[in-house]
Amino acid sequence: MIFENYKHIIWDWNGTIFNDVDLCVELINNLLASHGLPTIDKPKYKKVFTIPVKNYYADLGFDFSKNSFEELGSLWMDDYEARKFECTLHEGITDLLEKIKLHGIGQSILSAYSQHTLEELIRHFGLTKYFTHIVGLDNIYAESKLHLGKELMKRLGNGKGETLLIGDTLHDFEVAKEIGADCVLISNGHQEKEKLKSSGAAVFDNIKELL
Ligand SMILES: [Mg+2]
Repeated sequence: MIFENYKHIIWDWNGTIFNDVDLCVELINNLLASHGLPTIDKPKYKKVFTIPVKNYYADLGFDFSKNSFEELGSLWMDDYEARKFECTLHEGITDLLEKIKLHGIGQSILSAYSQHTLEELIRHFGLTKYFTHIVGLDNIYAESKLHLGKELMKRLGNGKGETLLIGDTLHDFEVAKEIGADCVLISNGHQEKEKLKSSGAAVFDNIKELL
């Protein structure tokens, strides 16, 4: 197991543990269509999705001089909030969390999504017991989680090579690099494999491959 040498695993939530990609494609298409913009398919979504989310909205053609990003983002989030329980966890994730726990390795969540939604979903899926820290943003605009990652690393107090971050976006990779954690990425989340591979990080197709 690639985890054995680590003291702590920091998990991303959306797309890494929580399989919400199809819902996100559907919701962004609703928003695009209702603003007279062309819709996208899943491969295109995984090509353009990025954090900060604001840049991805701009790439899709939203005109912030007509509708502010804050307005668009909160429309999207209202729909997401109403439908988030339609999503499931990625296959094999609970087994993996359990396995890591049994090895005596600590685990946390570091997410760019809102703290409230994060805690609610983690509780809903019965995963709270696996995490010593659950860290999300205090707003819905998914800008960056770097500052939260820095605080989390301080609290963990781990040295170099003792922490592994598992995520599904280049933002996860960048955060890992900045906070001094190793990083592996999973490509069945919000960004395509080619994009993830450009970081030089190890990329796995899914959680089962990680196991
Ligand atoms: Mg993610």
